[in-house]
Amino acid sequence: MIIPFRKIGSTPHSFEISRDRAKLAGTLVQTNKGFVKLHARLQGTLELSCDLCAENFDTMLNEELTVLLHDRIFHGTDEAYDVVEFFDGNIDLDSFLTSELELIKSDYHTCQQCLKP
Ligand SMILES: [Zn+2]
Repeated sequence: MIIPFRKIGSTPHSFEISRDRAKLAGTLVQTNKGFVKLHARLQGTLELSCDLCAENFDTMLNEELTVLLHDRIFHGTDEAYDVVEFFDGNIDLDSFLTSELELIKSDYHTCQQCLKP
């Protein structure tokens, strides 16, 4: 799902997208500092690979995400939230979800079997 930045105003814009068995649902709203604030819940299932035995296993997702989206390069930091930049005036929610899932996958994961003493 691609949403142009100019379409987002001060009234929250709801969205829901999914990739494989993961779902991201939430709202986009303009903030007074020139950002679009994304507030969403990531739910569903994600397949991870165990770092010890290399077996794949499913994990349940249930995360709340709040990030600021910016329509060009942002030099600086926000005290409260991560800032995600887009470069063509559009919010690409699919690529945002993909990168969030890749970020989770890149963490260290251990399957239930390997956690057993
Ligand atoms: Zn394992």
